[in-house]
Amino acid sequence: MRKITIAIDGYSACGKSTTAKEVAAILGYRYIDSGAMYRAVTLYFLDNHISLTNPKEIDRALSQIHLSFHLNSHSASDAFMNGVNVENKIRKMRISENVSQVSTIKEVRHAMVSQQRKLGKDKGIVMDGRDIGSVVFPNAELKLFLTADIQVRAYRRQQELLEKDKLVDLDTILSNITDRDRIDSTRKESPLIKAKDAIGLDTTHVTIDEQVDEVVRMAISKILLKK
Ligand code: C5P
Repeated sequence: MRKITIAIDGYSACGKSTTAKEVAAILGYRYIDSGAMYRAVTLYFLDNHISLTNPKEIDRALSQIHLSFHLNSHSASDAFMNGVNVENKIRKMRISENVSQVSTIKEVRHAMVSQQRKLGKDKGIVMDGRDIGSVVFPNAELKLFLTADIQVRAYRRQQELLEKDKLVDLDTILSNITDRDRIDSTRKESPLIKAKDAIGLDTTHVTIDEQVDEVVRMAISKILLKK
């Protein structure tokens, strides 16, 4: 059966990763969380005190960062940086509070987009992020753009963090999501926009299972479509 590329973009905490992960598992596709890549770069920049305004320092730092994804014992994909599992560290608020600023940097975006294209060169991939349908894979066969009410998003993100034993108050999450959406949508380099051929999905009143079913149904109809 022919393989396609599925791009899932949208605002922060809309359920992109959860949907993408489950859709990939059902289709037997590879799942790549592009946000994890920007988060890992942010971790490196913070830990190594990289100046965000010095392009030479940024380029040197980027050349030292090797990112990869490996399945863990729960069949979930963990992010590795230079051979070390950084999955837990990159989900911390310290990273969430800095990642959008780091993601505005042209050199960072170019390096990530080029790695993402390599990861997706053989298709059979579901990638979620902010610019996947618009910049990384403009020819993706299926493009989705997720939205949801901001209060619902904040609550869902709080539950997600609680499941990982991280208690963060709702106001902190709300303000982080709002800030990230603003920076992501207004940056100069590949801002968060809905690609014109992307299908919009409002997930406010939809369960994850319903969301996944709908995306799988759309993917199958694209897969079966004659080229
Ligand atoms: O997907 P997640 O919320 O983990 O992404 C973290 C941040 O990484 C986003 O708020 C955004 O600043 C950045 N990002 C991006 N482009 C992507 C994926 C994520 O700029 N394709």
